[in-house]
Amino acid sequence: MFNKILIANRGEIALRVVRAAREMGIASVAVHSTADSDAMHVRMADESVCIGPPSSTQSYLSVPAIIAACEVTGAEAIHPGYGFLSENAGFVQVVEDHGLTFIGPTAEHIRVMGDKITAKDTMKKLGVPCVPGSEGGVASVEEAKKIGEEFGYPVIIKATAGGGGRGMKVAQNAEEMEKAFLTARAEGKANFGNDEVYIEKYLTTPRHIEIQVFGDGKGRAVHLGERDCSLQRRHQKVFEEAPGPSISAEERAAIGKTCADAVARINYTGAGTIEFLYENGEFYFIEMNTRLQVEHPVTEAIFDVDLVREQIRVAAGMEMSFQQEDLQINGHAIEVRINAEKLPNFAPCPGRITQYHAPGGLGVRMDSALYDGYSIPPYYDSLIGKLIVHGRDRPEALARLNRALGELIVDGVDTTVPLFHALLQEEDVLTGGYNIHWLEHWLETNLGGS
Ligand code: ADP
Repeated sequence: MFNKILIANRGEIALRVVRAAREMGIASVAVHSTADSDAMHVRMADESVCIGPPSSTQSYLSVPAIIAACEVTGAEAIHPGYGFLSENAGFVQVVEDHGLTFIGPTAEHIRVMGDKITAKDTMKKLGVPCVPGSEGGVASVEEAKKIGEEFGYPVIIKATAGGGGRGMKVAQNAEEMEKAFLTARAEGKANFGNDEVYIEKYLTTPRHIEIQVFGDGKGRAVHLGERDCSLQRRHQKVFEEAPGPSISAEERAAIGKTCADAVARINYTGAGTIEFLYENGEFYFIEMNTRLQVEHPVTEAIFDVDLVREQIRVAAGMEMSFQQEDLQINGHAIEVRINAEKLPNFAPCPGRITQYHAPGGLGVRMDSALYDGYSIPPYYDSLIGKLIVHGRDRPEALARLNRALGELIVDGVDTTVPLFHALLQEEDVLTGGYNIHWLEHWLETNLGGS
């Protein structure tokens, strides 16, 4: 096992990894920009290294600075968290070239899954069902229109290198195709340096269902059921739950096995998430994330596992501590993402926290790097906390979420907490009767923003 690991991230996820490492008796090294000198992850880690100025390109994304921090502190492995360098195959290569261990999959797996066309092709060959659409990239508007006719409108044009909801455009009909196609291509180029796009049938009422998988890198893999992340704004998740209210035990077992078998066959290492759209009882693969997800705690709650601990174990060459038969679902868990944003337009709202009080009690977990007097810097993602509740069943989890949100105090900045109070009044949220478009419609009707 490692003696010391470095965490190439910040905020709640850096703290999450520090906690797992400490329980395993592993020392942790935090890295930080000058804007994060007072951050909680820096305070909680055993050691810290300043790696650059506020701009993430010069700090959290600076590969030389992170490698140097490992060398200075003697860290043997790097946990990337999510975002930043977590899905950067080039980074993984550099880490390995320096004799260090990357806590995650191989550079090759990241490369394959990071390109959505290659990922879809790979998954298809592994027997995973995919959204109908173009075979590979689409080079021209004319070709795009032909595909639109073949599959029927609406269609979605996606940048193969896209992520975070960027580089995707919907065309409702042939007239909209040219603009949608060129915009998706331009966004792909501008944000990801790659203008290749492909086309899929646009599903009108799907749910977003993702399967958590875990592999040991030696051909053994398990699944840990699904998460329903259908409540989204601009393709970004805001509320996630497990198990999915619409998924039966039989469906779970079948799609879970398909996914576990697929990743076992490619000798996948560590945590991964296979994302699907689910409509009329069918699953359609959209992408695979080769890292820990923001919403991993809901899975941890219902399976009583520590996914970060498991990632570290497997990276150190140890066996997974569970097998498929050990993984039984217990109850229901919900996570809400608390962002420092001002409603109704979700404008980022950095600033000083004058008072912070985290909720507690039975079945409540608050993953956050906030503290009284902390100043949220304006340079990074606006996620400031994740409130996760666990109950014996969905109604109990919902009641607990309501109770815990009532206890939470975050003063000094605007947050998305009022959104969740409002959502908990909605019949569709209480019954689980929503799809990926539900929240956008609700926001338009109720807040007038989008
Ligand atoms: P990203 O990598 O940017 O997160 P994804 O491919 O995972 O992109 O898609 C993100 C979200 O976009 C999905 O959760 C869903 O809401 C929507 N989406 C993607 N593909 C389709 C599709 N074929 N039909 C309808 N919605 C889609």
